[in-house]
Amino acid sequence: MHNLEFFNRNEARDFINKNNPMAIIPTGSVEQHLNHLFIGMDINSATKIAEDLTNKFSKNTIFYRPLSVGIAEQHMAFPGTMTLRVNTFIGVLTDVVNSMIRSGITKILFINGHGGNTEPMRTAMQNINLEMKGLHSEIDTSEVRTHVDYMELLDQDSKIDIRYTSYWEMHDPNFIKKVINDPNYPGHANEYETSVALHMFPDLVDKEAIKIDPLGTSSDASEEKGKLIYDDIIEKYSNIIQEMLT
Ligand SMILES: [Zn+2]
Repeated sequence: MHNLEFFNRNEARDFINKNNPMAIIPTGSVEQHLNHLFIGMDINSATKIAEDLTNKFSKNTIFYRPLSVGIAEQHMAFPGTMTLRVNTFIGVLTDVVNSMIRSGITKILFINGHGGNTEPMRTAMQNINLEMKGLHSEIDTSEVRTHVDYMELLDQDSKIDIRYTSYWEMHDPNFIKKVINDPNYPGHANEYETSVALHMFPDLVDKEAIKIDPLGTSSDASEEKGKLIYDDIIEKYSNIIQEMLT
């Protein structure tokens, strides 16, 4: 897997120049996940998905993890939880995107593993996309009369492509109906996420604690469900990566 941090500067430059890679960046959270899952579940699940995809598309992708923490104010009653303020989180992501583009990496896929990041990221990504196109595209604005003209011009620049999704949004609703009983999908440390954890990090799940889950939604979780979910996530992200690379 090509992890940006483990290249030396010549290797990084040559890989970027020769392979024109897109970047795959995980985001998540460090926060309490009841008693049965570990505090780093969200960032580590997104990281593993991003790493596996970087391995699968090793010629044209580069992995980078700029931060582990996300927006987790709602979990701060539990020691060990870390949170960033919304503007800090978005500020770091914006600066990372800007640095990537200045390095010649103009296509970036964020894979998010934490619900609390979703709405701020959705809004921020639209703006980051526009801002980066505005800053880095070579468009002539001398004939622009309205903002609509400007948006159309920016849209014609296919070089810059910044996308973001949370991994649980990848599934078809019918798939979820077949696999998951919990009506509160995707939830928090529930049947869905606990199944994912049982498949990805079996040694970090406390199976005894599942029996006394205070939300009572993780008891239907299983490794088999986790594998089905994981394979579907990888398949759906692979389609997006193929699309971004062509
Ligand atoms: Zn989680």
